[in-house]
Amino acid sequence: MDAQLSRSDRELLKAIYRLTRDGSFAHTGRLALSLGLTPGTVTAAVKRLDERGFLEHQPYRGVELRGPGRAAAVTAVRRHRIVERFLSDMLGYPWNEADRLAGTFEHELPQEVEERMFVALDRPSTCPHGFPIPDPDVEEIPDMPPLYALEPGDVAVVAVPGATDPEVIEFLDAMGLRPGVTVEVKEKHPFDGPVVLRVEGRDRTIGEKVANQIYVRKEQAI
Ligand SMILES: [Zn+2]
Repeated sequence: MDAQLSRSDRELLKAIYRLTRDGSFAHTGRLALSLGLTPGTVTAAVKRLDERGFLEHQPYRGVELRGPGRAAAVTAVRRHRIVERFLSDMLGYPWNEADRLAGTFEHELPQEVEERMFVALDRPSTCPHGFPIPDPDVEEIPDMPPLYALEPGDVAVVAVPGATDPEVIEFLDAMGLRPGVTVEVKEKHPFDGPVVLRVEGRDRTIGEKVANQIYVRKEQAI
């Protein structure tokens, strides 16, 4: 993890990573919105990181990461997810609290402590939300499609983003839809209709809106 980067630099690189993973450019206005910063602050930080070779800002098009920026984003995501695991597995925090707490101290951790945490946790492959912990040297964090992209017969493991509305989390929880749970799609109604899922031995019907808020890692069909 690059010690030369400030906490806000890392958050910015992560946000650019998220917004450009489909190959598009990240607009500075969009970045400001997603980070809750003013456009002026984002533009100044982008300029600094551009000069340092982490990204490239093309006027009127937007921002894309260069190699070192991409590597910094991946290692920042890796650290966040390891710290989340530590909070939930070792300290007993609920999975939906780990995200917020991790952000309060993950940036201060020495790299060697992160490495020991990872080993002490038995090298986990996902964070408590169900998202993959990338290897430190990969270019790309494996992408997860929304549950609604699945088709009948598909089997997949669920991931629930930390930013999900608490009421939605409660609803999902009542359906047995928690991070790491395996589901099978039984039916998908046409014209953006609901999906019927097999969850822990029961059929559950989920609307399109909710099914687009949770993510999945597809498994081989049974
Ligand atoms: Zn997470």
